[in-house]
Amino acid sequence: MKKVYLETFGCQMNVSDSERVSTVLARDGFEITSDQLSADVVIINTCSVREKAEHKLYSHVGRLRKKAKLKMPVIGVMGCVAQLEGETLFKKIQGVDFVLGTRAVGRISNAVNETLSGRSGYLDVGEREDDYDWTVADTHRHSPYVAFLPIIEGCNKFCTYCIVPFSRGRERSLTASDIVRQVLELRRNGVKEVHLIGQNVNSYRPQTDSGLEQFAGKSAFSRLLRAVAATGIERVKFTTSFPRDFRDDIVDAIDEHENLCNWVHLPVQSGSNKVLKAMKRGHTIEKYLAKIDRIKASPRDIALTTDIIVGFPGETEPDFLDTVKMVEYCGFDMAYMFKYSPRPETPAYEMSDDVSPAEKTLRFMELERAQKHSQDRQLQKYLNKVLKVLPETASSRSDSGLTGHSTCHKIVNFEGSNEMLGQIVDVRITEIKTNSLFGEVIK
Ligand code: SF4
Repeated sequence: MKKVYLETFGCQMNVSDSERVSTVLARDGFEITSDQLSADVVIINTCSVREKAEHKLYSHVGRLRKKAKLKMPVIGVMGCVAQLEGETLFKKIQGVDFVLGTRAVGRISNAVNETLSGRSGYLDVGEREDDYDWTVADTHRHSPYVAFLPIIEGCNKFCTYCIVPFSRGRERSLTASDIVRQVLELRRNGVKEVHLIGQNVNSYRPQTDSGLEQFAGKSAFSRLLRAVAATGIERVKFTTSFPRDFRDDIVDAIDEHENLCNWVHLPVQSGSNKVLKAMKRGHTIEKYLAKIDRIKASPRDIALTTDIIVGFPGETEPDFLDTVKMVEYCGFDMAYMFKYSPRPETPAYEMSDDVSPAEKTLRFMELERAQKHSQDRQLQKYLNKVLKVLPETASSRSDSGLTGHSTCHKIVNFEGSNEMLGQIVDVRITEIKTNSLFGEVIK
């Protein structure tokens, strides 16, 4: 039996694609291994959101080749870099044997079999088959208790800095009845928490309403949330949300259904309307803050997280200070912050990258300070509070420790036995750290 080792970079969509690829390969007679050195085939699932990640791939393949002294594996590249670069990857990176795009994951076994039987330069960046099976991977998920379920793929938004619409193609939504069927199946198989995922999950727009008719509400996504909540699965999370399509009825659904978790990830990117317009984000800061106000007014105490870019072309000091002000106002539990770097083949690449690297670093550090200050204050509210936590793994920090996530998507560490894994427990929070909380189980 040939052994396949998979390495995944990037977002939850990539994790989900890797799970699907592992499931397909195992079904087709391959063994999925966690030992890279013994593998006959190494597949790298790539991310292209940052150009740096792409460059890392080049050195990574080189290292793989060097490491594999005894046994030279077949090397395949899949994911966004594969989709964007296609055939040119063979020229750019010595030692790549096959390239498989984001829409060809269902045909992974062909790529591997063809390459193992001696074909060189196998390339598949074609479209999905019409009868593509969207069923979520069941045998090779990253966790037995948590499942990522893609409900929408691709993106139509074309934010000027972003490569995703080019690497993942146009938006396509799965039907609501398929989603509900899969959630019911996951629940039967012991999954406690399902993440509905997509580049902009709340832009969900299925071609037909089948499966949603009985749910009142305005947007298709809020109706889908209600339908998924009605399956009775213990926890539902969703990410990433696109601000322009984030309607109040999503918060109404969270307010009314306990199993829709109290966490929203809503990337703002900038606090300046001028910069938001240059980014083509489709929302103003006033509209964004109105959504934040609605979320904060929820009795569910919804945790907020976001993404921010500093130093976008044309960002002046006053624009940047608007971002700092916005961060102080919103009170994010966490913000993923990035210094802008031009990504080839995006519209922003043509703009003048006029904020100097030194200035970007200064702004980044100032924003980090502001966010840390706000976050420290924000997280104090969890001290002595009892959170419902799903223990997912043994903690790497102690022999008898467990790690899991709360409904508000905080990482929580606590003492506990392995029998608790997969069982939702009440944990009183006793210590707050920047990236995680610590606590004790309430008997
Ligand atoms: S919404 Fe904008 S940032 Fe998000 S994936 Fe689409 S183009 Fe990229």
